[in-house]
Amino acid sequence: MPRAVPRKPAPPAGASQVALSSPRTAPLGAAADATPPIDYVCEHCGAPGMTRDAWAEWSTTEQRWQLTTLFDFAFCHMCHRPTRLVVHPLRKG
Ligand SMILES: [Zn+2]
Repeated sequence: MPRAVPRKPAPPAGASQVALSSPRTAPLGAAADATPPIDYVCEHCGAPGMTRDAWAEWSTTEQRWQLTTLFDFAFCHMCHRPTRLVVHPLRKG
């Protein structure tokens, strides 16, 4: 694949940087006492399983793709349209 873009462009306004040192890959419930678990649901149909646009950057030291930037754009695969994320608290048990 040609290297057409020599420099990484700056993320657009509204994008958020992903903390590389703390990806959300911890086991479920690992931080349950500190932060209540949440889910994101679709503002249209209420379904879980939202996806967002993101940039992944290759790490030569880790030898894997790492998410570096999350964009605001979200998509619902249940109603198949762009949506906004609604925070939905998860109940324990
Ligand atoms: Zn939906």
